[in-house]
Amino acid sequence: MKALVINRSPARFLTARILKDRLTDKAIESGPLNLKDVDPPKAPTNEWVRVRPLLSGICGSDIATVFFQSSRYFEALTSLPFTPGHEIVGERLDRPGERVVVEPALTCAIRGLAPCRFCASGQTQLCESTTIGDLKEGIQLGYCASTGGGWSNEFIAHERALHSVPEDLSLEDAVMVEPLACAIHVSLRPTHQQGHLAIIGAGTVGLSTLAASTTLGDYDSITVVAKHPLQRELAKRLGATTVLYPEDLLGAARRLHASQRVGHYVSNGYDIVIDAVGSSSSIESAIAAVRPGGEVIVAGMPPRQSLDLAPLWHREVQLKGAYAYGEEDLTPAVAQRIGLTIPTGQRPRTFAIALHLAGRLQLGQLVTHRYRLGEYVPALRKAYHGGREDAIKVVFDLTKRKSVHDG
Ligand SMILES: [Zn+2]
Ligand SMILES: [Zn+2]
Repeated sequence: MKALVINRSPARFLTARILKDRLTDKAIESGPLNLKDVDPPKAPTNEWVRVRPLLSGICGSDIATVFFQSSRYFEALTSLPFTPGHEIVGERLDRPGERVVVEPALTCAIRGLAPCRFCASGQTQLCESTTIGDLKEGIQLGYCASTGGGWSNEFIAHERALHSVPEDLSLEDAVMVEPLACAIHVSLRPTHQQGHLAIIGAGTVGLSTLAASTTLGDYDSITVVAKHPLQRELAKRLGATTVLYPEDLLGAARRLHASQRVGHYVSNGYDIVIDAVGSSSSIESAIAAVRPGGEVIVAGMPPRQSLDLAPLWHREVQLKGAYAYGEEDLTPAVAQRIGLTIPTGQRPRTFAIALHLAGRLQLGQLVTHRYRLGEYVPALRKAYHGGREDAIKVVFDLTKRKSVHDG
């Protein structure tokens, strides 16, 4: 079968790194990712199911990994060679025609282990065991040599990781369930989802978080910082109160409470700022625009970088990471508002909330470009350039549809 495979070759990584600023097709071809004929992955136990991907998204973290922009922290949490792809809608090979989305986290239950303390408390995103058990190292399917990933014609997934796709959900809405689950988790990370919220960045993470925050939060206003025309249009369509260019954020923060500008900061500002870019400048902008005592949520995978943390210290700003999904604390009022029934004493899984909201939010509208597996060079180039080239979510189309270039 065909699969895109990453195998570490320092020289290849280096080439990709040097050339990353002017990303030519040649740079991608000489990078660490190649299309190969490989054997399908073997199931470690009979609880594993073979799945054929139909659509498989390219995530920002995939791009960072392919182009060696990700933090070295991540290296120990993957195993080589691996096939990327963790945003997947596919078809079970043991039940032809049954469409599934994959919850890709490779946590204790999936690895055949007794739950660690975090899995036991429902915080599976904090699992301690993503490097041991039945599988090789890997935080998720799509970063693990044992499972394969979505950028291929076949991979394996644990039975527990598969969720049936409702009949009336489009493939595009279904492939966005995983990013939506991430966005739901991000939107529920602030201690209170109230007051004035700003979201910096309007790629998939920023726009999905906007959609989740309008639905789950109770904000007075939601401001989105977006650079590019399609991002700005989608931010308005998905319910942003205000859409700003990056240079206008601080002024808008100041006007919220008629506060003072103090150097690069304002004396009061947004209650919560979500950083959906993950660069040092976006995180510094977030810290500058948040009110003293406010919360900054880091939603995208940041690379290694340097930050001025003096204002964080002085203004008692909380900086919180938000990774993946697990279980969520939904108040009964919010659960009722979105029509989600939660059995007494239970907390809903983030994925269950995402599946529940997927049809309503229709994030399939963020899928702007589709490519065949063999077209991975233009696909990665498009995903790398993102909003600059009017791309939001780029996906591999592994269906047998004749034409995929309709997005
Ligand atoms: Zn992702
Ligand atoms: Zn665990």
